[in-house]
Amino acid sequence: MTAKLLDGRALGRTIRDRVTREVASLADRIPPIKLVSVDVGENPASALYIRNQRRSAEGVGIAFQHVHLDAASPEDEIARFLLELNEDESVTGIVLQRPLPPGLNTRRLQSKIHPDKDVEGLNPANMGFIVIGEPKLVPCTALASIRLLLSTGRSPRGMDAVVIGHSEIVGKPIAFLLLNLEATVTVCHVATQDLAEHTRDKDAVFVAVGKPGLVTGDMLKPGAIVVDIGINQVPRLDDAGRPLFDESGSPRQKVVGDVDFESASQVAGHLTPVPGGVGPVTVATLLSNAVTAARLQHREELGEVTFEQIV
Ligand code: NAD
Repeated sequence: MTAKLLDGRALGRTIRDRVTREVASLADRIPPIKLVSVDVGENPASALYIRNQRRSAEGVGIAFQHVHLDAASPEDEIARFLLELNEDESVTGIVLQRPLPPGLNTRRLQSKIHPDKDVEGLNPANMGFIVIGEPKLVPCTALASIRLLLSTGRSPRGMDAVVIGHSEIVGKPIAFLLLNLEATVTVCHVATQDLAEHTRDKDAVFVAVGKPGLVTGDMLKPGAIVVDIGINQVPRLDDAGRPLFDESGSPRQKVVGDVDFESASQVAGHLTPVPGGVGPVTVATLLSNAVTAARLQHREELGEVTFEQIV
């Protein structure tokens, strides 16, 4: 293997340590920072995610409140509740857990969260701030991906970069952040005809699709920085390529990204592993976004938020 691994767990720890120091230093200037996580209906995946959010928030000194709403809650009632949280000065940041029960309009509800409390960066106003080059609250995975790029020490200015995937939550914000950093950016998506043609000469490759093995070593420029955002469950195989089963007879699974790690690691200069790459940095970025939210809500005491504070 020639690629240097970009260790997301280590970078996640560095971000959490920084957030811990910032929370402590802001404590005597502004009210305590508090995240409120709202989930609607029953969802085992959300329950685990919320437990982890609580642990990571409390670990850096951020208060955490979980509010559970009934699956049958009408949309206008949920919207009213979010507007109340917007008005509540003790609440710094609001997370609306997805997926919402069928029948509820996720985007409409997310847009109710005040842009300054939108710690997941999903309000269209926050996307607009990224587009005009004044990012405030940035979607966590997009900011995490840029942080991993910057952690290589190489300047994005003048880099040729490609972003594969153009979702609102990941691909598009990464592309605009790269433009803000003066990289030359190509964006590929499901209708792109020849993906390799767009990746082969790029200094940095971001992949957020959800297709294991989409990007292979022969599609990369030697020395490229590769940030693999994809999360895919695939069957675990034995040495002969046969699926493995657990004691209950269920197929064993493992998590992989969108990049074929074996071949890519022979060509790339830097590569994020999956798991242990973008994921832990994304979790830590929700916490740093909570600090950014606090700074935005207390601009008068603390001054305008700068890009250096965000990234
Ligand atoms: P999405 O389904 O909203 O978007 C997928 C994108 O991939 C679309 O832009 C689509 O056009 C593009 N695409 C589909 N097939 C393609 C192909 N063959 N070639 C090129 N592009 C293609 O997904 P998303 O929410 O952006 O998530 C993408 C991946 O990132 C998923 O695997 C998801 O689990 C993962 N993800 C990871 C994190 C994290 O913290 N690591 C966070 C969010 C999402």
